[in-house]
Amino acid sequence: MGNDKKTACKKKSSNLQEKLKRLNLTRREDLLLHLPLRYEDETRLTPMADAAQSAGNVQVEGEITDCQIEFRPRRQLVARLADASGALTLRFIHFYPSQQAALAIGNRVRCVGEIRQGFFGAEMVHPRCRVVLPDTPLPQALTPVYPTTAGLAQSALAKLIADALAGLPLTETLTAETRAQLRLPTLWDALHFLHRPPADVAADALDTRRHPAWLRVKLDELLAQQISLRQAYRARREIGAPRLLASGALAALLIARLPFALTAAQVFAVSEINADLAQPYPMQRLLQGDVGAGKTLVAALAACQAIESGWQVAFMAPTEILAEQHYLKLTQWFAALKVEVAWLSGSQKSRQKQAQQAAARTAALVVGTHALIQEGVDYERLGLIIIDEQHRFGVQQRLALRQKGGAPHQLMMSATPIPRTLAMSYCADLDVSVLDELPPGRTPIRTHLARDGRRDEVMAYVRKKVAAGRQVYWVCPLIEESETLQLQTAQDTHAWLTEALPDLNIGLVHGRLKPAEKQAVMAAFVAGELDLLVATTVIEVGVDVPNASLMVIEHAERFGLSQLHQLRGRVGRGAHESACVLLYAEPLSQLARARLKIIFEHTDGFEIARRDLQLRGPGEFIGSRQSGMPLLRYADLEQDADLVETARTLAETMLTKTPEQADAHRKRWLGGREELLKA
Ligand code: ADP
Ligand code: MG
Repeated sequence: MGNDKKTACKKKSSNLQEKLKRLNLTRREDLLLHLPLRYEDETRLTPMADAAQSAGNVQVEGEITDCQIEFRPRRQLVARLADASGALTLRFIHFYPSQQAALAIGNRVRCVGEIRQGFFGAEMVHPRCRVVLPDTPLPQALTPVYPTTAGLAQSALAKLIADALAGLPLTETLTAETRAQLRLPTLWDALHFLHRPPADVAADALDTRRHPAWLRVKLDELLAQQISLRQAYRARREIGAPRLLASGALAALLIARLPFALTAAQVFAVSEINADLAQPYPMQRLLQGDVGAGKTLVAALAACQAIESGWQVAFMAPTEILAEQHYLKLTQWFAALKVEVAWLSGSQKSRQKQAQQAAARTAALVVGTHALIQEGVDYERLGLIIIDEQHRFGVQQRLALRQKGGAPHQLMMSATPIPRTLAMSYCADLDVSVLDELPPGRTPIRTHLARDGRRDEVMAYVRKKVAAGRQVYWVCPLIEESETLQLQTAQDTHAWLTEALPDLNIGLVHGRLKPAEKQAVMAAFVAGELDLLVATTVIEVGVDVPNASLMVIEHAERFGLSQLHQLRGRVGRGAHESACVLLYAEPLSQLARARLKIIFEHTDGFEIARRDLQLRGPGEFIGSRQSGMPLLRYADLEQDADLVETARTLAETMLTKTPEQADAHRKRWLGGREELLKA
């Protein structure tokens, strides 16, 4: 008997542990840092007669006069609660036996919820209820509402947190001087305040989350993030990497053969990169630049530095089409310099692949897809890895990369500009170079929005452009649910365009084509043999055909902002006036309308990214699932941009002056969760 009870007890507690774990609450500190989502004002009771007129949540108290399970049509628990002024119905569609017991006839119950007018008069659906005695006092202050998980009641969680608060104060990680300067309370005071606001604090004062107590918490959180990333940054400096100290002769040769001059931004980025490559620890630099800013050339010049120093370079792109474009361009640039360029992709036959892998072992420059970092590829002297469109690679690939060939220098490129605050927080372990100007002579792209019904006008526009010698992209709708359907649509689109425009040479490219077929179609388009290219989003990244000056995107409302921006960036690359037509189908959702408005009004990738961040929030924006990055829980990068700056400086100071404090601070906030940060 006793044993049974013990097991039951154990089971219950392990159940609780599990639920807490789901909320990432494994240590006392975690409970203390688990802060309210919002506050409920339960300091007052509303008489039931008045409750019906109140908007939002109200608190009522009365006696249960009736309680039964009804079936209409679904099983539900329906109770009647009455006070001296009136009565109302309590309705539960999901309920536990314990709830039913609490609502026993004759019990005195306090309920918080929103009143709505039901078929049988005023009712509350799923109110929060508590059995009380006639003399149970009302709370004096706001009641916190915590984020919780199924099966863990607010009251149970609140009790655990209260217990944690009753223990010893947490050690303070900020100096008194810093706190005074920033006018912030100690963490312990801030936590006390937020978990148990004093009686005189109103809910609005806390809801904006700019109260000093909230600011302290948010600063702490941002500080932990900065410390973690800066520690990773510093740790890398302990790892050795080859110093690439070439004279720059090879780069000079490449530049001399170009038909254009580098932009000032390119020159500056190259100098930043070369300075990093000359260091005895691995570079990790992110090269940001809008679509068409000329990142490939900057990468090629970095490659020159490594190759001239006698080291190999791997150049990796996320798709085969893009990798191949790079391969063609780089071969063209490097052949004249007598530099061997090898090609490696996932789709080659195994014998061919072995030959390619053997070549990759020693080639000066190896270009390809993620096959570059797969099993079986060994480099003799890998000195630099260049990753194009790095945000498209997942955690696994980035980890594999870390494990490959010791610690080569890394240059990552991204055409999805990362807004400043986001870059400062989530990318604090990287150095960043920015190409903030486009090469001269580009003509701005004109963007047109057109309802699907105006297709005829669009066709006329296409004819006109082709008659003038230009080429056109026609992008098929994105169908996320089904690749087969997407393929089908692309084929249908190709068929009807071929019929509608019989004089044009029209090609089709999509993800299911064999590499050789894809290559043939792209080559024909590059050579100008095709007037119009029907494509799925495989052309989203990096494709470069200057004569293409019109892009039509079907069902533009289905695409994300950065996708639209990337797609549109495929035109406007030559001297010809370029345009992008966004066809959309009505009705538009609010979000789709907002996106189309932004893409219509802006061409600057950084501005678009900033607005995208506002629309979607950082989690969606950086694809947290893909990046594996723990997200910020309290700080808001837009609202708290000032705190990001403060945290950054503070992190550097702490890491230099009081490294143990910095470490303790990081552990408090990130516990064991930060490993992925470094992936
Ligand atoms: P992205 O930054 O989007 O990767 P690319 O590297 O594909 O851009 O460059 C876009 C085009 O601009 C290419 O055709 C490239 O050769 C050309 N380009 C690069 N740098 C310059 C420059 N300084 N002046 C003129 N054209 C340039
Ligand atoms: Mg590119």
